[in-house]
Amino acid sequence: MHYGVIKKTDIANGLGVRVSLFVSGCRNHCKGCFNQITWDFNFGNIFTEMTEMELLGALKPSYISGLTVLGGEPFEEENQEVLAPFLELVKKAFPEKTIWCYTGYLYDKDLLPQDGRKHTPFTNRMLACIDVLVDGPFIEDLKDLTLHFRGSRNQRIIDLKNNCLLKL
Ligand code: SF4
Repeated sequence: MHYGVIKKTDIANGLGVRVSLFVSGCRNHCKGCFNQITWDFNFGNIFTEMTEMELLGALKPSYISGLTVLGGEPFEEENQEVLAPFLELVKKAFPEKTIWCYTGYLYDKDLLPQDGRKHTPFTNRMLACIDVLVDGPFIEDLKDLTLHFRGSRNQRIIDLKNNCLLKL
């Protein structure tokens, strides 16, 4: 897996001050995507054990609320394989911090069902670690700059632990 950017004090992608990891590779190709450069699976740097250590270090301060993974597309098959064990590592090291994840796919249609188009042997492991999933493609016609933590009105902020939608 490759990643483009790590932000160590991000307030735009989830509640509180967060560490954000922008992974590379996305096949959604939403019209009007804000980050087209990340569609390329080889964009940026290779995600290594050193990267994991860097992220774990960045998550340590008490003012950090947790980790956000976005992209690119964290739920592309190639990325799931790397992210599932990494998210488990983060959850084990920081059980009190939250993990947010963004996806252009739909939770109940593409990810959760065994026959969902992005369901892999790693999907449930990822979902078990994620506290909040922001799902759905970016739809330009539904773009709304007043929304918190999402770009278009169709996108949902799903609290996976409490199985409900967050209205933020
Ligand atoms: S899912 Fe995200 S990164 Fe991928 S095309 Fe859509 S807006 Fe861009």
